[in-house]
Amino acid sequence: MKETKTYEELLEELEDISFQLKEANETIHAIRTGQIDALVVETEGGPQLYTLKSADHTYRVFIEKMKEGAVTLNSKGIILYSNSQFAEMIGMPLAKVISLPIMHFIPDQYKSRFKKITEQGWEFDSKGEISLKNKNGELTPFLLSVTSLELYDGIALSIILTDLTTQKENERQLQLKNQQLEEAKLAAYKMNEELESIVEERTKDLLVSREYFKFLADNIPVIIWTATIDGELDYVNRRWVEYTGFDVEESKTKQNELVHPDDLEKSSSVWREAIKNRQKHEQEFRFKRNSDGTYRWHHAQAIPFIDEQGNITAWIGTTIDIDDQKKELEKKDEFIGVASHELKTPLTSLKGYIQLMEFQENLSDTAKIYVSKATSSVNKLQHLIDELLDASKIKAGKLKFNKEELNLTDLVSLCIENSAYIYPLHQIKKELQDDIIVCGNAERLEQVLMNLINNAVKYSPNSREIIIRAEKNKDTAIVSVIDFGIGMAKSDEELIFERFYRANGHESTMPGLGMGLYISSEIIKEHNGEINVKSKLNEGSVFSFSLPLATKVE
Ligand code: ADP
Repeated sequence: MKETKTYEELLEELEDISFQLKEANETIHAIRTGQIDALVVETEGGPQLYTLKSADHTYRVFIEKMKEGAVTLNSKGIILYSNSQFAEMIGMPLAKVISLPIMHFIPDQYKSRFKKITEQGWEFDSKGEISLKNKNGELTPFLLSVTSLELYDGIALSIILTDLTTQKENERQLQLKNQQLEEAKLAAYKMNEELESIVEERTKDLLVSREYFKFLADNIPVIIWTATIDGELDYVNRRWVEYTGFDVEESKTKQNELVHPDDLEKSSSVWREAIKNRQKHEQEFRFKRNSDGTYRWHHAQAIPFIDEQGNITAWIGTTIDIDDQKKELEKKDEFIGVASHELKTPLTSLKGYIQLMEFQENLSDTAKIYVSKATSSVNKLQHLIDELLDASKIKAGKLKFNKEELNLTDLVSLCIENSAYIYPLHQIKKELQDDIIVCGNAERLEQVLMNLINNAVKYSPNSREIIIRAEKNKDTAIVSVIDFGIGMAKSDEELIFERFYRANGHESTMPGLGMGLYISSEIIKEHNGEINVKSKLNEGSVFSFSLPLATKVE
């Protein structure tokens, strides 16, 4: 027979249980907050009290505050203590966790591993990894650190659970990074291999082109050399070695022995200047031939080799033997000098006879025309012979003349008057400052001016206007002859004062020898002055020369 309880009995029992529950909750709260260090657990054999032997308030607070989960188990695997982190990890209220078997929370696939770790933990400190299900049912990895604890009422097992999610993620990231690193290393290795093969190929190309350059340099009949940026020889071709008898190393020290003593100083200073100014240089000097010890004239040129950044990386030079040509030219000059000198005497007497004929009475009109034509031709011939004689004097360094103080304004005026007489169809405008006094040779300066005016007329077939200006500028006098004729290209301007040089295109269309400007520039040089040209094709030219003004002597 089933014994039925009275209402009062049931009420009493309920009050009893409520009291027990309240007491249990208070106990748990007290343990969590560290107010007490004992725990009553309801087991099969009735309620049991557990006390931590060494627990104190500080430790419990500390455990509660840890990030890690912490549980204590009895020998049956019942949870005697849990901190709130563990309860949170498994997604259960803390009050329910305590006194439950821990196996409740271990997923099936980890049960045997958990058992092994905890079994070891009873013997000695052990560690191991398992995963627990969180409140969302997701598996989260944990590291378990198991150690046995001695309580008053027997030994318990403490487990600290460290969430490995972040660590695992870090490990995963690290692994990923390592993998990427490995891939990058592999790519770099491959790139390096490719680079090496490119370098190898380029080196091969370079070698081939170096060999090619060497072959070329050794087999052309010109001396070739290269020098460092400071001008020290670092390569000479085979022709250099054959000619000088020195290889590159010997040449470095004996270079000065190779140049004629009279040319050495000038040659060295030109070279030094070129290095300083980083500019191409050209010069002529006598270079000693090893085979017979003679000095032969050479034309040398050195060009700076400039890289993309604008830095000089080397100098490249050529030296060409011009001795034979130079001797030929000297012979020609000598011949011109002698011939023009020899021509001058018969020409002077021819001129005299023509003048005598001019003064003859009762000359027929036809004869008068012939005489005037003969006079003009003889004058042209004399001008030509005079120019040839001047040119050979200049070459021989014999163009010398006396200088005295003179009024340049008057001299220019006189030339303009002469020109107006010779070229009656031209309008020659004069723009002259008064009393420009210079020290010079009137005859030679007139020669220069007349040459400039003659050219202005000759090279302006379609323009009849010429301006002649004389002015003072600080301590120099400047005379300019301005025309509006055919002009010349910029490239001709630099060369126009050289002997026999004629501007491009003029050789076939205009008669001339290219000596007038050469003689004029030498005359101006002798006066310590300068001559130059500014010209534009088909627009005209301005030829100017400057002379130092005479310094007044009180
Ligand atoms: P030539 O006139 O006998 O050739 P020059 O020495 O006087 O010799 O002149 C040299 C060259 O300069 C000429 O051949 C000509 O090409 C150029 N030249 C001289 N004057 C002028 C000028 N006013 N306009 C254009 N070209 C000129």
